[in-house]
Amino acid sequence: MSKSEQLRWEVAKRANFRCEYCKIHQDDMFISFEIDHIVAQKHGGGNEIENLAYACPHCNQHKGTDMVTFVDNYDDVIRIYNPRIDNWHEHFETITGELYSETKIGKATIKLLKINDVDLIILRGLLIELKRYP
Ligand SMILES: [Zn+2]
Repeated sequence: MSKSEQLRWEVAKRANFRCEYCKIHQDDMFISFEIDHIVAQKHGGGNEIENLAYACPHCNQHKGTDMVTFVDNYDDVIRIYNPRIDNWHEHFETITGELYSETKIGKATIKLLKINDVDLIILRGLLIELKRYP
C-alpha cells in the first residue's frame, strides 16, 4: 500500500466509511468517496490527516474550496461544519431523511453542500427505514 493509499484508508476508517458531512455510508452510494481538504489548500490547508475528511462526491463537489457561506443575510457569514472540531449530532437532525438544523453552522452546511437535494432526502429516508442511517 502506498503512503497516499494508507492515508486514504486511515481517513476512511476514522470516519467509519461514512461521509463526514452528510453521514451516508459509502456502501449506500455506489460511487467512490473522496478525500476532502477541510481547509482547502488555496486557503493554506495542508495534507495532514487532521485537515482531511472522508466525503461523498455530492458533498465534496458542492463544498469545493469553500469554508463559509451566508445564512440569513449578506452580513451573516458563517463557517460550515468542521468534522474535526464540531459534533455532528449538535448540528444536524433528521426523522424522515431531510436534515434540519437549529444552529447557524448546520444551516450554512445544509445550504452550501445542498444536503437536502431531493434525491438525497429520498435515499436517506430509505436508509432510515432500513436502520442504516444516520
Ligand atoms: Zn455527503
